[in-house]
Amino acid sequence: MMSRDPAGTETLVRGGTLFDVRRPLTSGDILIRDGFIVDVAPTIAAPRAIVVDARGKIVMPGLVNAHIHSSQALEKGLSDRYPLDTWMLLASSYGGVSADFGPRELYVSAMVAAIEMIRSGTTAAIDMPRIDPRRFQDGTDAIMQAYADIGMRVMVAVIYSDQNFPGSLPLELIPGAIEALKPARIAKVDEILPAVNDFIRRWRGRNPLLTPAVGPSSPPRCSNELFEASVDLAQGHGLRLQTHLLAAKSEVFVGHQRHGGSTVAFLDRIGCLKEWASFAHAIWLDDDEVRLFAQSPATAVHNPISNFKLGGGLAPIVALRKAGARIAIGSDGSSSADGQNMFENVKATANLHRNSHEYEDWILAEDALDMCWDGGAGAIGQKVGRLESGYRADLTLLHTRNLFITPKEQLTGQIVHSEFGGSVDTVLINGDVVMADGRLTRIDEAAIHAEAQEILTRIYRGMPERERRFFELYPMFRDLERAVFRAKLPFSRYCGA
Ligand SMILES: [Zn+2]
Repeated sequence: MMSRDPAGTETLVRGGTLFDVRRPLTSGDILIRDGFIVDVAPTIAAPRAIVVDARGKIVMPGLVNAHIHSSQALEKGLSDRYPLDTWMLLASSYGGVSADFGPRELYVSAMVAAIEMIRSGTTAAIDMPRIDPRRFQDGTDAIMQAYADIGMRVMVAVIYSDQNFPGSLPLELIPGAIEALKPARIAKVDEILPAVNDFIRRWRGRNPLLTPAVGPSSPPRCSNELFEASVDLAQGHGLRLQTHLLAAKSEVFVGHQRHGGSTVAFLDRIGCLKEWASFAHAIWLDDDEVRLFAQSPATAVHNPISNFKLGGGLAPIVALRKAGARIAIGSDGSSSADGQNMFENVKATANLHRNSHEYEDWILAEDALDMCWDGGAGAIGQKVGRLESGYRADLTLLHTRNLFITPKEQLTGQIVHSEFGGSVDTVLINGDVVMADGRLTRIDEAAIHAEAQEILTRIYRGMPERERRFFELYPMFRDLERAVFRAKLPFSRYCGA
């Protein structure tokens, strides 16, 4: 479908139906130079450009996945039975199969995540991989290299924390839990931050698609000292930061003990609610926290599929939105979400809140797409998510064998409610064609898949032990969950508590 002029430095996407929620639906051409859209018009003459023939196809901005964990990409389908806190201990990266991945496994895992995202029309992502601290540098390099090889736009905020997972739970609620689960400090701040600094120094400005960022795991999983130092690092060096916010109700207790009350107020006090910060999940906010968060320029990242899978709760997205908060959408990692498909998550964002809210507050199809594109752009801090001059040329082309092209209202509804990525045909990132006619252009997909299968076969040997530990630990976690849910805390009525 492409004709190539070897002297051409421009790319022309010709004759597609141009769809984004902020412009009328028209047919036209898009001219790309140096990774940016430089013109959008009914016809553009660019005789020396590389031509991507988009006639009969829909051209839309690539989707933005604002929260993933690439180190979990091989864990799809392995964690059906675990509720959130037990899952964190046994199955997420804390104790999960990827906890001792070396650089090659991390590379393959990131590649599997990226393949899945590009194949389902996502062109930009924020990744919070967890890496064994002993392999922090080699591991981060391997993940960055995977994204460089496949040509995807990614902000990588490697997760770190200075406490083990039990250290982030209110174990005092359950007799015997402290002795059994052994909460502990696992690293010192002055060991962690130099490693994060090294990673950022090595990758900052090295590849125009890749942004190293700061990734403290969550307020309860970091000491106040580590979290405050992370904010200083981001603020002082002009870096972006992503973390998790109140994903589990149990975290509210820890916030009360460690931050003197509200976790969101703590984040505000230490200067973290800024436009360079994004917060995955944002579920257990009370009404005051919703207001405080919404007044700030920070972004909340909604992870609807993951939250529902783990029984984590319904995030107060409608309340946050009404109060004016910036909201993006992410899939979360494959250990909880079982995939990285943003069509699925945009649809869930549009539909999941309807049963619990008045009709006037429903999130409609175009609202959900706008959160994905515009909210995602805000979280990653780049001009992506629109078909306009000056924006990054990250484009997803859909074939129209399953979609009706007009009217625009119907197309918007179909893309949100009917499409799951099967129509994704061609993908451009930064103006480069990374997928053409259903084929990834820069990597050997079959070889990656075969290697992922080998790694999974090894991983699966550990599953019986994981199940055994689950049944051993579950009574304690069940008591913890019951104690947490019995407690009277000032939750928003929007939380579905
Ligand atoms: Zn997460």
